[in-house]
Amino acid sequence: MGLSSGQLRERESMPGAVGAAAGEGFNLEEIMGKIERGELSVSRLEEYLGNANLAALARRSYIEKVLGVNLSGIASTILDFEELYGYNIENPIGAVQVPVGIVGPLRVLGEYARGDFYVPLATTEGALVASVNRGVKAVTSSGGAVVKVLKDGMARAPLVWTPSVVEAHQFVEWVKANFEQLKSRVSEVTRHGALIDVQPFTVGNLVWIRLVYKTGDAMGMNMATIASDKICSYIEENYDGDARCIALSGNMCTDKKPAIINRLLGRGKYVVAEALIGRNVAENVLKAKIELIHYINTAKNLLGSGAAGSPSFNAHYANIIAAIFIATGQDAAQVVESSMGITWTELRGEELYISVTLPSLEVGTIGGGTRLRTQKEALSIMGVAGGGDPPGVNALKLAEIVAATVLAGELNLLAALASGHLARAHEKLGRGRIRESRSRQAKA
Ligand code: NAP
Repeated sequence: MGLSSGQLRERESMPGAVGAAAGEGFNLEEIMGKIERGELSVSRLEEYLGNANLAALARRSYIEKVLGVNLSGIASTILDFEELYGYNIENPIGAVQVPVGIVGPLRVLGEYARGDFYVPLATTEGALVASVNRGVKAVTSSGGAVVKVLKDGMARAPLVWTPSVVEAHQFVEWVKANFEQLKSRVSEVTRHGALIDVQPFTVGNLVWIRLVYKTGDAMGMNMATIASDKICSYIEENYDGDARCIALSGNMCTDKKPAIINRLLGRGKYVVAEALIGRNVAENVLKAKIELIHYINTAKNLLGSGAAGSPSFNAHYANIIAAIFIATGQDAAQVVESSMGITWTELRGEELYISVTLPSLEVGTIGGGTRLRTQKEALSIMGVAGGGDPPGVNALKLAEIVAATVLAGELNLLAALASGHLARAHEKLGRGRIRESRSRQAKA
């Protein structure tokens, strides 16, 4: 039996499936029968059908049938799995959608981002976009956010076994002496990646070599991993003593886990954004007194985080980082370390100085999820889609815009706490109250 008309419509709506020669003899029921009889694995459908869109359709249909669920929403997507296959997803069944809101104009006074920007935030948390946008208004009305990237380097730390501390020490000295050799091995596997530092750490007989790379406009994790693998091979072939790379990643990197090492040494972009907020702006836009914002920052972000044993001293960097990461195709799991950081405030007469320090902001404008159409469009809103000229400037520009947006979000939340607006805003924008008041207004 062939495809039903609904299934055909669905199939025709899939960009890669239309006219695909591989799909000409496609018979969904026959494929489902093979899967059910165990003759075909759901993870081998791309190979079997020769078309990733048809594979997604067959896999989803099978899941719908065995679980008795309707996945027509997940089926509705503009994604072409032929483009994603081998890069972004395995075993696809469709896509989920996340709404995207916009904040701006946000004035950014960085080295790479200079001017007024609109920033896309993908979230399902009602009140988040409005909250950040109020902070954006306060920052822009105060002249903008000054932003500086202090360090730029993606780290991967292979773990090396040696027999003793004496040999561990000898190995570290050899690595330092052979830095130029290691660097040239890296240039064999990447055009944009460059080894810039080796940070050794020894515990007993074990050594972690934290290898730090410039990665151009890429966030750089694949690049750094491939380059580190090359370095491990070079070590095993050329080091005279007994040293073995036992794990390409030894957790001193540190990827996708909270770690003090990233806060101290940096990973990705180490970036600071700051602004001076005048008393009038604070009171008129944020409805809060600067003294109270400063006090809440000290008591909550510094003392509260310290008392809780947190490695991070901020109110909600993760909210802004996650929303920008999802909108722009960053690796969402890296929100963990990218949202570590410290918010610092000072009272300066009639102004409030506020800064956010993000030592481990991992962003890219090329590679990973940035190649997907909607994510690329989101990057284009900020003028940072794809590779920069020279390479690296787009990722640095994005890092500056992200930090400035985090500053705005942080400022607004501190002000909302200071003025007691937090719960009210969430009730209105996160529990549908704004809809009730809109319909009351419409009836009046
Ligand atoms: P990638 O897409 O793997 O590599 C970037 C590619 O873009 C390289 O082939 C690079 O070529 C090329 N390129 C072209 N123009 C460039 C420019 N202007 N700047 C930089 N590169 C340019 O991206 P990645 O950032 O290294 O890795 C990101 C992916 O890694 C994400 O999907 C993420 O989820 C995943 N990830 C991997 C690991 C891991 O352990 N492997 C860990 C976490 C996340 P050249 O190399 O020749 O320069």
